[in-house]
Order: sequence, then structure tokens, then C-alpha cells
Amino acid sequence: MDVAIVGGTHLTIRGERLGIVDDGALGITDGTITYVGPANALDEAAADRVVDAEGCAVTPGLVDAHAHTSLALLRGTAQDVPEIEWMRRTLGPFAAAMDDEDRVVGCRLGVLEAVASGVTTICEYASDVSTLVEEVYGPLGVRVVATETVNEVATGHIGDTGDPDDTGDPDDTGDPDDPDDTGDPDDPYPLDTSKGDEAVERAESLFDAYADAPLVEPAFGPQALDMVHPDRLEHLHERAGERDAKLHVHVAQGEREARQVAARYGGRSTVEVLEELGVVDDRLVAAHLHGASPDERRRLADAGVAMVGCPSSIAAIDGIVPPVVEYREAGGTVGLGTDQAPGPGGHDLPRELRTAALLSKTDAGDPTAFPAWSALRAGTVGGAAALGLDVGRLAVGAPADVAVFEPGVGAAPFLREPIHTAVPNLVYGAPRARDVLVAGAFVVRNGSFVDADPAGAVVAAVDRASDVLSAAEGDWRDAGSALVDAVDDGWL
Ligand SMILES: [Zn+2]
Repeated sequence: MDVAIVGGTHLTIRGERLGIVDDGALGITDGTITYVGPANALDEAAADRVVDAEGCAVTPGLVDAHAHTSLALLRGTAQDVPEIEWMRRTLGPFAAAMDDEDRVVGCRLGVLEAVASGVTTICEYASDVSTLVEEVYGPLGVRVVATETVNEVATGHIGDTGDPDDTGDPDDTGDPDDPDDTGDPDDPYPLDTSKGDEAVERAESLFDAYADAPLVEPAFGPQALDMVHPDRLEHLHERAGERDAKLHVHVAQGEREARQVAARYGGRSTVEVLEELGVVDDRLVAAHLHGASPDERRRLADAGVAMVGCPSSIAAIDGIVPPVVEYREAGGTVGLGTDQAPGPGGHDLPRELRTAALLSKTDAGDPTAFPAWSALRAGTVGGAAALGLDVGRLAVGAPADVAVFEPGVGAAPFLREPIHTAVPNLVYGAPRARDVLVAGAFVVRNGSFVDADPAGAVVAAVDRASDVLSAAEGDWRDAGSALVDAVDDGWL
């Protein structure tokens, strides 16, 4: 046995509930969990390394099921503005000024934040995602679902900012000099097949490059129905079947998409068209879904489609609560994602669990709508199931992705009797992960990264962000978002 994690309250997330084991222990051999159960039945002397988890909560590593971490570089630049201005006028000018190295530096910042919060798996949704895998995920030893963005919107048009959550401005759909683009939100923006071809080539190469990489799971990422040709979507769905991979799509993410899809497809909705294209099945991972009808969401859940809700992001950008509770009640698989940092502020998954719970309660007018235990399941086994991974639970034979949380001043006390207070306190408090292991290897140990320099990552991010914001300031001012006024008025 390589590692034994002994003592404390183990939330194994096995079975239908949380699988709570008091005075628990975990045995890890060759990256795999080989023992789960009471500490007194484990011969800890047989372990090369023993982790004392007395007083702590031991959980599966958390799963961030949808993230664009490069945008962490632009944290603080795009919030508190009208939805209609968020992408084109606020974030867009800064995002357009980022180069490859900026994206790597932003990604490193976001991933370190996520891991420090107990995350061991991130679904990274990005263009040229292999660069992020090589520069950030691989060296750090963090599990990644590498999802290559496929976006065919012609260069210079809405949705071409490199950000998959472009909510857009329906009054400003593209380049006014382009005769193919009338600027009418109900006139489909032009698509460029060659751009899609290049992205698909990058996506396909991921499967070859990482065929033997245990921590990298490639996936296909056609960005959204309005941003790719229908035959592209059908083709990628077919390829996902052949590759036994997921097809991860932003689905029904707002008014702009709805109007574009209606214009392209004779007034039909996104979900109707996806059904007609034959891509609605258990390969499909649907991010967001707030623009779908309840009946459509029921049909997706029945078809085995997994949903990823990103409550902080959608609240910050749109002022909307994603339908995670409704989708769970319909029997659908639900994971949670942090999406992007510039709107809601970051990639800390316990904070996302808290936000998911509180927003869902508020939306339902019912404090029981999304309890802490449901949030913990969504943030572990729910996200893992959505992504098709055998993580998110502590079970013999599963990869040893584990987080050990100390109560600290923000989440104490962790009690066992008469209530396991660690369950609510992990979600509603402010816990910090003391130890984080991915496939049995320590990424964080005793509160410090084993092989990463978070202080250096911050210095690099400040430096890079400063350059990007300076370079883009003119374009950003010209775009004229409400944030420009807030700066000029002395609020920012
Ligand atoms: Zn997204």
C-alpha cells in the first residue's frame, strides 16, 4: 500500500447517499483505491505513507464539469453589467487581446484555485486545449477532460471571441463591413467551414496524443447549435460514438442563440433541432439549458442527456438560476461547473456548491430545494457521471482522487454526533483542502502545492493581465460598456 488516509469522517459518496464512515480509512495502491472502511480494519503499518485525517473530512476529489480557465486572467473585468453587454462590449475587447501565453497563465491561475478548493477533475473547454494540457494540467498532475472547442462562426463575427459563453449583443451581431452580415439578430451570422475543419483536426489529434495518458480524457466540443453547421454536429456525434467520447455542447443558453436557431431552422428551438439531428442521447453533455422549456428538459433527461449547471456564471451574466433542481427531479444526471472567472469570480468548487444551493432555494422559494447533501453529490459523482468518468466516489477499484478538508475557522466545527456537521459545513462554510491527491499522487500536501508555485502564478497573472488590459483599453472604451462609465464615475 502506498498511502493510507486514516481517521476523520469519510464521505465516500457510495450508494444513494453520502456513504458516511466515521473513523474511516482509505488505502491507496498504484493510484487506485484498495481499501475503504473503518480505520481499525486497516493495517496502516503496511502503508509507505500515512496521512492523519483525524478531525478532517475525507471526500472524493471534486469535479468541475465545465470551465474555461484561461479567462481567469481577466477576473474582475466583466461583471455587474447588463447581460446584453457582457461579451461584446465588456469581456470581448480584453479577451481578444490575449495571446497563447496569456491563456496559459490564466489557465494556471484558474486550475491552481480549483485544486486548492479540493477539485481533482476539470472539464476544460477551450480552443487549442492541448496547449493547456501540456503547459498546465500535465505538469501539475490534475485530471482533465480536454474538450476542444469547435466554433465555425466566421472570424470577426459574434461568437468568435474564443469564449464559449458568448451571450452576445443582439443589436450588434457582427462586422458591419461584411455584406453577408446584416447586423440583424434574426439574420444568421456566417459560418466558416474551414475554421471548423481545423478545430476538428485538433480535436481528433487529442485522442491519439493522449491515448495512453491516464489523466487526460478527450471530448468533442461543438460550441453551440447556432455556431456550427448541422452536418458538423451530426458528424461529431458520430465520431463521439466511434471514440466512445462525450459530445459537450452549450445548449439553450439564451436569447441570442434562440433567435439565431429560429432563423436558421424555420422557427424551431435548439432542443427540437438537436432531436431532429439525432444527437440527443447519453453521449450528449448539455451545459446550461436555462433557455429550454420544462418539457424539453424532461425529454433530454429521459434520453439520458447529462446537464451541467453553472449557477455562479449564469447568475452573474444573465441573472438567471440554472434549472439544476428541475433536471434532477426529472431524473437527469446533473454536474456543476464554474464556467468562467470574469463574471462570477472564480473556480472554487465548494463556493459553486454553495451558490448552487442558495440560488436554487431562492428560485424555488423553498429552503429544502437543494440541500447540502445534494450539492455534494452533484459536485462529485454527479459531475463524474455527466463526464463519463469513474471518479467522484471513494470505492475500491476507483482512481484515488481524494480531498482531505480541514475544518479551519471557516468551516468548523466538524462533529459526528448527533449531526455530521461536516456535510453542511463543507458546502455552506469556507473549507480549504489540506491534502489533494489525483490517482494516488499528492498535488497538495499539508496545505501546500507539491510541485507548483501559486505565488509565482499570481505574479505572472498580474503582469500579463496588466499588459492585456493596457493593450485593449482603447477598444474596450470604444465598445462602451456600462463598466466604462463605472470607471469614469469613480466606482472602479
Ligand atoms: Zn461554457
